[in-house]
Parts: sequence; structure tokens; C-alpha cells
Amino acid sequence: MTGASGKPRLAIYWASSCGGCEVTLLNVGEQLLRLDDSFEIVFCPCLADFKLEDVRGYPDGHIDLCLFNGAIHSTENREMAHLLRRKSRILVAYGSCAHEGCVPGLANLTTTGAILEAAYRSTEFAADPQGPLPHPCTGTRKAS
Ligand code: SF4
Repeated sequence: MTGASGKPRLAIYWASSCGGCEVTLLNVGEQLLRLDDSFEIVFCPCLADFKLEDVRGYPDGHIDLCLFNGAIHSTENREMAHLLRRKSRILVAYGSCAHEGCVPGLANLTTTGAILEAAYRSTEFAADPQGPLPHPCTGTRKAS
């Protein structure tokens, strides 16, 4: 399958990621231009202002190759993984986080409460150890 340009369609996405996987792709200097010669990039939020609605509007299998990096660590990550799996002919789990969990996967060894405590309360780097903890609802909407 190819896009209007006659080139295979490529998507690159990060889920729970440190950004290092993107750096390995983008830090190739002039070779990056060859990527554009060889592929029609149809989704890559770290390169350009692609919209989620664009991806949702693609027919299933529209993307020839998707490089998916980062772990599945949130509802959004999971939804994006399912969406891109459906929209892509080939989806590659790119990098250690995507294929084996890596650093984000360590969170599976403990509880959410212990992670929040360690990250926001007991660390010496906590900006406000008595402050509110992150929670699913934000803004002025009240939690139900
Ligand atoms: S595999 Fe994970 S930790 Fe390693 S560079 Fe990629 S996103 Fe970062």
C-alpha cells in the first residue's frame, strides 16, 4: 500500500516514554531527510502537528508501518496502542519500553499508592510534600 505520494505511509508514536527512542530516530542528521524520501509520514506528534482525529479518520490498515515506542502505562497509552494497531498493517514495538516494559514496567512491582508516596511525598525533591497528589480528574470538574 502507498499514499498519494507513491511512498509507504509511516507513523511514529510515543506512549509512556522518556523521549530517547525519538532521539535515536531524529538524531540521525541528514539521514532524516532520507526518511522523508522513502516514506509519507502520516502521524508523528514529535515532528509535526498531526491530529488524533486524522488517525481516527484513516481506514483500517491505512498506515503501512507504525513505530510505537514507550510503555503502555495509562488509559490513553492503551487506547492509542489499540487505535494504531488497527490503523497499521505493521506495528513495531520499538524500544525496550514498548516490548518489555523497561523503566515504566517497574511500576508493576509495587502499588499505585506507594509510587505516589515515593514520587510526591517522601522524596527530598518533592516541591510540596503536603500538596495534592495527582488524580484522574483535573480542572474545576468535581470527582464523582
Ligand atoms: S526504550 Fe524506553 S527508556 Fe529506552 S529510550 Fe526508549 S522510551 Fe526511553
